[in-house]
Amino acid sequence: MNPYDYIKKEPYKLYIDGEFVIPKEKEVFDVINPVTNEPFAKVYKAGKEEVERAILAARRAFDEGPWGRMSAKERSKLLLKAGQILDKRKEEFACTETLECGKLYAGVLYFEAEMCVDAFEYFAGKARCIEGKTVPIDENTVNLVQWYPHGVVGEILPWNGPLMMGCQKICAILAAGNTAVVKPSSWASLSMMLLAEVFEEAGFPKGVVNIVAGSGSVVGDAIVKSPLVDMAAMTGGTDTGKHIIEASKDTVKEIALELGGKSPNIMFEDVNIDDAVKWARWGFTQNSGQVCVSGTRLLVQRSIYEEFIEKLKIECEKMVPGDGFDRTSTLNTLIHREHAKVVWGYIEKGKAQGARLVCGGVPYEDETLKKGNFVPVTLFADVTPDMTIFQEEIFGPVLCITPFDTEEEAVKLANATEYGLAGGVFTKDMKRGLRVAQKIKGGQIYVNSYFSKGMIEAQGTGWKQSGLGVAGIQKYMISKTIFIDTETGSVPQ
Ligand code: NAP
Repeated sequence: MNPYDYIKKEPYKLYIDGEFVIPKEKEVFDVINPVTNEPFAKVYKAGKEEVERAILAARRAFDEGPWGRMSAKERSKLLLKAGQILDKRKEEFACTETLECGKLYAGVLYFEAEMCVDAFEYFAGKARCIEGKTVPIDENTVNLVQWYPHGVVGEILPWNGPLMMGCQKICAILAAGNTAVVKPSSWASLSMMLLAEVFEEAGFPKGVVNIVAGSGSVVGDAIVKSPLVDMAAMTGGTDTGKHIIEASKDTVKEIALELGGKSPNIMFEDVNIDDAVKWARWGFTQNSGQVCVSGTRLLVQRSIYEEFIEKLKIECEKMVPGDGFDRTSTLNTLIHREHAKVVWGYIEKGKAQGARLVCGGVPYEDETLKKGNFVPVTLFADVTPDMTIFQEEIFGPVLCITPFDTEEEAVKLANATEYGLAGGVFTKDMKRGLRVAQKIKGGQIYVNSYFSKGMIEAQGTGWKQSGLGVAGIQKYMISKTIFIDTETGSVPQ
């Protein structure tokens, strides 16, 4: 199967109020394959008018129904049906996402697309398990705590996991009983435009899900500022998050932000070095480092420091850059030329600020690779907290390595950035593993492995400047406390 056979010849349309629509201005943007930097599809771009229509449609579907009045069971059934439709189209979604994002096809098909179907199944179940509680106050007062959907949720997505992130977020929004206006990233819109077809085929009522592609400054901004949107959620960079905090202030809407990271991965001297080296490499090279929770700061105890670096260098140099459809590729391209420029800028800064370049750090000479946005796996050793590459998220296959002597110093270094997203600890001493995991300021910590094994069941939250709000279905719900007076004739005197 040629993956391009799945790509539509005409521009992908917006999905508003249950219809596939062409925006008034008929503006389009190109979808570019980052392996070749050649455009291969077009997407219609929403303007303010289309965003407003999408918000009104979501508003109506929530306020007037049927969505707002449907039972949890009915909503759950629709989610299950959509998941089954997606399951049948996994290959198409995986091809599309690989073409657009340059990812490794097998990873998208066998992991990310599977996780998407799983999100539909999981949240279909969750929709029927929303519970409140009663709180004992006194013998004449019954207190109920109940959970409600916010109403209309605007969900703004990043480009690094557009399909998976989109499915997880939309499923949670709908399971909670909200309606959605979704804005995918301009660099990775196709999978969401395609997902609209899944919701349509599953029979979701009009206006429950609306998908509007376009720029953050127009579409995203309009969602965040609209008084008709009850909640705005965004996954993306911390600077964009700060912008959204500012832009949402006039409507004081609920906001949830899943932001950047600069996660530490700590290696104590008692580890099996050969195994730990593989985990360290795995922790920062997935999707070429374009993963928010990547372990991009490796902290290694001094007694094993040089041996660890030498072995890690060998491991990293084994990685094979290439097209995600080529089964021999193990290192994919970065998403966009502009993003690759940013990553190269950090590499140059690392060199200029005196970090020791261990491997990578120089552009590929190969003519085919030069057409794409490939960046070799780059290791910097002797990185200190005052260096920019220690502090700032690079979002590429670049690892900063820093030595430490004591457990206390490791924890201090781990917490020495503004971020608090994730982290890893490797040690045979489980008491120490748990102790250090508890001291790392971050919402998702792995002990003796890297990356979450329960991405849907046990989602992490962003601490410090890595985010705002909780994860999962609760993120999209709001509580109410009701006091019922059961005493007969109780009247204030
Ligand atoms: P980004 O540049 O911050 O963009 C995220 C989204 O926000 C895009 O859809 C973007 O639209 C939109 N946007 C930009 N300006 C906006 C504005 N003024 N108002 C409203 N929306 C606006 O992030 P990215 O480069 O796509 O994604 C990479 C970042 O996401 C990394 O920092 C990564 O760590 C983070 N991330 C975090 C998590 C997590 O769970 N914490 C998960 C994944 C990714 P356009 O780009 O289309 O203009």
